[in-house]
Amino acid sequence: MSNEYINIHEFDFNLICEYFSSIERQGPGSVESTLKALSFIDNLSNQSVIADLGCGTGGQTMTLAQHSKGKLLGLDLFPGFIDRFNENAANLNLQDRVKGIVGSMVELPFQAEELDLIWSEGAIYNIGFERGVSEWHKYLKTGGYIAVTEASWFTDERPAEINDFWNEAYPEIDTIPVKVAQLQKAGYIPIATFCLPETCWTKNFYEPQLAAQDMFLRKHIDNQTANELVANERHEAELYSKYKDYYGYVFYIGKKR
Ligand code: SAH
Repeated sequence: MSNEYINIHEFDFNLICEYFSSIERQGPGSVESTLKALSFIDNLSNQSVIADLGCGTGGQTMTLAQHSKGKLLGLDLFPGFIDRFNENAANLNLQDRVKGIVGSMVELPFQAEELDLIWSEGAIYNIGFERGVSEWHKYLKTGGYIAVTEASWFTDERPAEINDFWNEAYPEIDTIPVKVAQLQKAGYIPIATFCLPETCWTKNFYEPQLAAQDMFLRKHIDNQTANELVANERHEAELYSKYKDYYGYVFYIGKKR
């Protein structure tokens, strides 16, 4: 890897971080969906340890913390997100129970069977759903839960434009029955699945980006990477509005056998 490459990469990394730090969520979701998923989890006590993988700035982690017991560890690759995460925890006076750490979901800093619950909203695609649910399994206690959201097809067939877009962006996207079978094969009892409502994408994810985009573009007016980043996000939002009947985020909840 040349230095030039590292510099460009770091620069992009910082820009992406700056863009997404300015909004509360870095992926589609809602307080209601987090709480609905949490309603299936019945093993938590004050001694529990929960890990939120790919936590971003912690939108969903703070919701979880306010409605659960035990200790919460948010893990994310971006130090800028973790700084913001820990500020958010302190602002809500949750710093004694909620801690953000920099790390990677491909190499978790936990002991075998240390965790009671693994949470991950809009982030498991970074490792891939099948690999993530398989590799993370060993960190859970028997009877512990996993709750993740994953982009999924709602139908067996779909128009070529959206099929091609996703196969390029995340080839592992698949139908709900396929994902449930993967969860079961990885050693979990599939407890529940539900589709996130449309507003998780529109009102909570794409709309807050509109204001952030204008500010971001004014600040980085001549920057090609910044312009491309915003163009990509806008394209993704347009595709969602056109093809939302064919795909969405789905919560998958499993219990370790
Ligand atoms: N859960 C948050 C963030 C979702 S965006 C929310 O729903 O708002 C996906 C997150 O995964 C980003 O914060 C990104 O920094 C993080 N990420 C990407 N690769 C990662 C990795 N290998 N390990 C941990 N986090 C990662």
